[in-house]
Amino acid sequence: MPPSYSTDIVIFGGGVAGLWLLNRLAAAGYRTILLEREALGGVQSIHAQGIIHGGLKYALHGAFSGASRAIADMPARWRECIAGSGEIDLSACKLSSPSFYLWSGDGPGGGMKAFLGSKAVVGGAEVATETEMPGFLRSRGAVYRLPDFVVDTHSLIRALAQGHAGRIFAVGSDGSETTLTFERAGERRELWVRGTEGSLRIKARRYLFCAGEGNQALSEQAGLATPRCQLRPLKMVSVTGAALPETFLHVLGAGLSATPRLTITSHRDANDTPVWYLGGELAEAGVARTDARQIEVARAMLAELLPEAAMHELEWRCLDINRTEPASPGGRRPDNASLCAEQDVIVAWPVKLALAPVLADQVMNRLRVDGIKPGYAGRSRVDDSGLLASVFPDPPAFARPFWN
Ligand SMILES: Cc1cc2nc3c(=O)[nH]c(=O)nc-3n(C[C@H](O)[C@H](O)[C@H](O)COP(=O)(O)OP(=O)(O)OC[C@H]3O[C@@H](n4cnc5c(N)ncnc54)[C@H](O)[C@@H]3O)c2cc1C
Repeated sequence: MPPSYSTDIVIFGGGVAGLWLLNRLAAAGYRTILLEREALGGVQSIHAQGIIHGGLKYALHGAFSGASRAIADMPARWRECIAGSGEIDLSACKLSSPSFYLWSGDGPGGGMKAFLGSKAVVGGAEVATETEMPGFLRSRGAVYRLPDFVVDTHSLIRALAQGHAGRIFAVGSDGSETTLTFERAGERRELWVRGTEGSLRIKARRYLFCAGEGNQALSEQAGLATPRCQLRPLKMVSVTGAALPETFLHVLGAGLSATPRLTITSHRDANDTPVWYLGGELAEAGVARTDARQIEVARAMLAELLPEAAMHELEWRCLDINRTEPASPGGRRPDNASLCAEQDVIVAWPVKLALAPVLADQVMNRLRVDGIKPGYAGRSRVDDSGLLASVFPDPPAFARPFWN
C-alpha cells in the first residue's frame, strides 16, 4: 500500500477561482493543496480581458437582481484587496486601468442605450471629460466613465500564487507518466497518484474542482451523478502595433443587445509593443467565421474607429476559447458564481473573473454548513511535506497570453 497524505482540501485548477480559494482557505487555517495540470492562470483567467465589472450589463437590461447587486459590490471588494487591506492580499497585482469607458457609438440608437445604462449602473457612471477620454473619440458623441476597472491578469495570477510555493503542485500534462485516479474508501474518496518516482494516496475531506473546462472530465472521473457544464465559445482577436493608443472601451451598437459591439482592452506584448485585445459581440459572432474572415471584420471595425492606426503595420491574431459555466436551462448565461456539491466533492464556477470573491464566499459557507472546520493543519505530528514532493517534483509554470 503506498503512503498516504491527509489534508483538509485538494483544489484542482490554478486559475483565478482555485487560486482565490487557496488564499481564502489557507488564511482560514485549512490545510490545502492545489494541483494544476497545465500552467497557472491556465485557460480562461490569463485570457480574460481583466475587467472588474460593476453591473453595466444588467443595467442595460434595465433590471436589478440579486446577481447584479453581487457584481456591483465587486469593484470595491477588489480595490480593497489591491490596496492590501482586503480579504486577500493583491498588492502585487497591477492595475491596467483605474477606469473603463463606454462610448455610445456614432449612431443614434447607441446614444440612447448609453444614456439608460449610465443612469442605472450601480455606483454611478459619469460623463468622461475631454482630457481623459481616448483622443480619437473627442467630438464623436457621449463617452461615460464606468465604475469598472481593469487588472493585468498575468500579475493577478502571480499575486494570487505568491507565498503558496509549498501548496501548489504541477500534476503533469502531455508526456507525464503521472496518473491521478479517484478510488472509493467507504463513504469517502481517496486520490491515488501513481508516478514514475512512486505512488501516494491523498485523503482529503473535500475535493474542490475549479478546473474550468476540465470540471466536466474531473466530475466524470470522480463518478459524480450530475456533471453540469456548458461552454460558450468565443473568437477573440488581438492586434499588435505601435500606433495603438492605450484604450479601455465598450463600443455600443445600435441594437438592444446587452453585449457591446466591441470591447477593447490594452496590453503590451513581450517586446513592449501595444496590443489591443478585442472582445464583445465581435468575439461572440466570430465563432461562425474563419480566422481570416474574423480578422477582416475586426480590421473594418478598427478602420471605422481609428482610421489613422488602421493605416500602420499591424499584426492580427485570433484565439478560439470557451467560457465555461454551469449548465443552465436553455443554455442561458448564468449571471452569478455557483457551485454544485456532491458527497465530498464541490464543483465550482466563478462565471466571471470579477466574481471569484463571491465563489469563495459560497465555498466557505458550504464547508461551514457541512461542518468541515480547519482540522489537519495543527494536528499532523509527522513531517509529511516530503511526500508530495516525491510525486509532484515540479511547480507549475505561469501561463502567458497568446499574443506572446
Ligand atoms: C476571452 C475571455 C474574456 C473574459 N473576460 C473577462 C473579464 O474581462 N472580466 C471577467 O470578470 N471575466 C472575464 N472572463 C471570464 C473569466 O475569465 C472566467 O470566468 C474565469 O477566469 C474562470 O476562472 P477559472 O479559474 O474557473 O478557470 P480557468 O482560468 O480556465 O482555470 C482552470 C484551470 O484548471 C486547470 N485544469 C483543467 N483540468 C485540470 C485537472 N484535471 N487537474 C488540474 N488542473 C486542471 C487548467 O489548466 C486551468 O489552469 C473572460 C473569459 C474569456 C474566455
